[in-house]
Amino acid sequence: METTAIFADRALTPFEEIVEPVVIVEGSKIAAIGRRGKLPAPRGAREISAAGKTIVPGFVDVHIHGAGGHDVMEGEVRALEIVAATVARHGTTSLVATTVTASEEQTCHSVAGIARFILRRRDSSPRAASAEILGIHLEGPFISRTRRGVHPEQWIAAPSTALLSRIVAEALGTALILTLAPELPGALELIAAARNAGLVVSLGHTDASYDQARAAISAGARHAAHVFNAMRPFSHRETGVLGAVLTSPEVSAELIADGVHVDAAAMQMLFALKTPERVILVSDGTSATGMPDGQYQLGTFAVTVSGGVCRNTEGKLAGSTLTLDRALRNVVALGVPLPEALRMVTTNPARQLGLGARKGVLAPGADADLVLLDDNLDVSGVMTRGAGPYSVSPRNSR
Ligand SMILES: [Zn+2]
Repeated sequence: METTAIFADRALTPFEEIVEPVVIVEGSKIAAIGRRGKLPAPRGAREISAAGKTIVPGFVDVHIHGAGGHDVMEGEVRALEIVAATVARHGTTSLVATTVTASEEQTCHSVAGIARFILRRRDSSPRAASAEILGIHLEGPFISRTRRGVHPEQWIAAPSTALLSRIVAEALGTALILTLAPELPGALELIAAARNAGLVVSLGHTDASYDQARAAISAGARHAAHVFNAMRPFSHRETGVLGAVLTSPEVSAELIADGVHVDAAAMQMLFALKTPERVILVSDGTSATGMPDGQYQLGTFAVTVSGGVCRNTEGKLAGSTLTLDRALRNVVALGVPLPEALRMVTTNPARQLGLGARKGVLAPGADADLVLLDDNLDVSGVMTRGAGPYSVSPRNSR
């Protein structure tokens, strides 16, 4: 097993700051991390200098549809490889492949393809920088027609435990998150079924009242998809799903911090109310991520990207071209301290998936998913499960 010692100026684990750190990597895992001088590099170790850099854990994206011209719903090896490689250049070392609402046949076909890909690659180290696909986030089909955003209306389905079982069976144990609208008849039963299947239940694309959302949280919902977007708007007399999400500490909140989906003041409200432990930055990235402006697919429908903003034919926002390195910079620019902003792309999503010891943290025994940041918080290097570090040209795309 190859041993590598990486020396840098600083590390953020992100719970702790280590000045002049050395990270020892053995195979695909972090073996040790400590201060240079206190932690000797093992004899024969490959030594890598990352002078001037900060080492942080690789980012974990729990809501991403595609990148590099491909959508995860293609379900094909090459498409998934391109998605995983594209986001790795932006520091994302793990992702949860996110479906959009589609026909039962299409959903099952996509989910089966993604599951095969995941199971075939599990426990193998990549040969180039590549994010690990941890599992599948089912965004739909059990969502609100009123708050569907760009999800195709014809494929929206009423909550059905039978349909969920079929999709989960196709996922071969890789289904991790289900985003649903809790106000739909039968939603509470569906939440119970999803929890029994080991899924994190997420409130999203929903027109729920406060009481309906609270009932779902009592039934075990613990997450909310792209908070503020595709949700009933807040009113001080009927606070709706937002009132429930913002005041329930057991619920973590996804945020698309691209500066387009959510206004800065609303982002500040979210940080204040949810605290830095309960905010999870997501990309909601589409196949247009890392690509020039033009025409792309999101799931099964066409979207247009102009100035980096992704919209459908009616002009509705349709996912994003955001990457988590940019989301991190945007949040820091709002005044959030770097260690807190980092938690929102590392430990918070990893813990929500029950992977807090393996992902999103610099600690012995964790996967060697490392990102090297320069002073501007641009990604200059990335190591994925012990492979690399590969150097990345700063701001290699928007
Ligand atoms: Zn969505």
